[in-house]
Amino acid sequence: MKIDLELKSDYIAKYEEGYPLLLKEALVDFNKVTQEGMLLNLFGANKKFIAKAYYGNQNKGFGWILSYDKNEKIDLRFFSKKIKSAITYRKEFYDDATTTAFRVFNGEGDGVGGLSIDYYDGYYLLTWYSAGIYTFKEEILEALKSCVKYKGIYEKKRFDTKGMYLSDDDDFLLGKRVTHPLIIKENGVNFTVYLDDGAMVGVFLDQRDVRKTLKEKYAKSARVLNTFSYTGAFSVAAALGGALSTTSVDLAKRSLPKTSEQFEVNNINLDSQEIIVEDVFKYFKYAVRKKLTFDMVILDPPSFARSKKHTFSASKDYVSLLKEAIQITKKNGIILASTNSANFSMMTFRDFIYRAFKDSKVTYEVLESFTLPKDFRVLESFKEGNYLKVVFIKKKERIWKK
Ligand code: SAH
Repeated sequence: MKIDLELKSDYIAKYEEGYPLLLKEALVDFNKVTQEGMLLNLFGANKKFIAKAYYGNQNKGFGWILSYDKNEKIDLRFFSKKIKSAITYRKEFYDDATTTAFRVFNGEGDGVGGLSIDYYDGYYLLTWYSAGIYTFKEEILEALKSCVKYKGIYEKKRFDTKGMYLSDDDDFLLGKRVTHPLIIKENGVNFTVYLDDGAMVGVFLDQRDVRKTLKEKYAKSARVLNTFSYTGAFSVAAALGGALSTTSVDLAKRSLPKTSEQFEVNNINLDSQEIIVEDVFKYFKYAVRKKLTFDMVILDPPSFARSKKHTFSASKDYVSLLKEAIQITKKNGIILASTNSANFSMMTFRDFIYRAFKDSKVTYEVLESFTLPKDFRVLESFKEGNYLKVVFIKKKERIWKK
């Protein structure tokens, strides 16, 4: 199904400049849009064609722009073209034997919003972010199959409007099934990955460059606290980089066996690695009471989380989280502050850091910062697509005497 729609005059320039996300408020008559996956030809004043989009209701937005060519057909050829060019762009990743997991297709960054494709050592994982994009499943699968060699293909559906994972009996689509755990390599480091066990697979590929930097430049001889540690990927990087000890803290019970497994597949002796299943905020209180201090504290909270006692929202609570970390970081120690919240910019994040140190009356130095790596391709015209913000901060002097 395909219809013509008019854009509101305030929005025409935005879409002409390449903004890829279709907003409900940009449309004169969004009530005409009735079916997920329907194609929308968008027009400006005087029936001037602007772009072609599809309707797919997501957490944010109403769909995505697909083409600026009025005659473009959204078919197998279209998707093959997009996937082929995405693969060419990642040639260096395919050629690098020390890294066998990376993002092959990053939604709007590669020309089709609402879809991502990740590569895990010969297996492909497609993630569908709306029922709308899922209507193109057959063409997209055909296109992928014609472009790559694969051992097997898996999928995840995350298309309710909050981006939540929809549990399915089976995420396997075709080819060979993985014998789990699948062990992938990232710059020579091993990580176990599970393609059919819930929304997340066990490692966040977008932190690859951060883990490498942590391992090569900051971990040596450090006592490291890794909070919101999930499967302990940062702890593994730290231990391999020569950290004296790591302490991983996560609320989820599964984090304990998953983290030990990540250490084990890298032959790391578990004696100096502590894994604690606890609320991070509770752990901070305990650490302060026991006068524990660390050479490095890693903060990588979810953008939003609710535990029994706490609601944490990165945009509201990051400053106080940093203050807790500052208290237990040694002088000249490092705080690795990370967030994947798309709700605020790097500039705002840097301001959170400034406020936390100012309130703590401690000076600091920003050593380096990271956003998404190359394979997580983003558009110049869609800055909010670059959600990742990571800053390495050195804690310096206390400037306030009691
Ligand atoms: N840093 C991890 C990814 C973190 S994902 C990595 O690099 O792989 C966010 C994690 O925060 C989840 O594992 C979740 O269980 C945990 N979490 C959420 N709220 C928490 C809390 N209050 N205390 C401890 N862990 C929490």
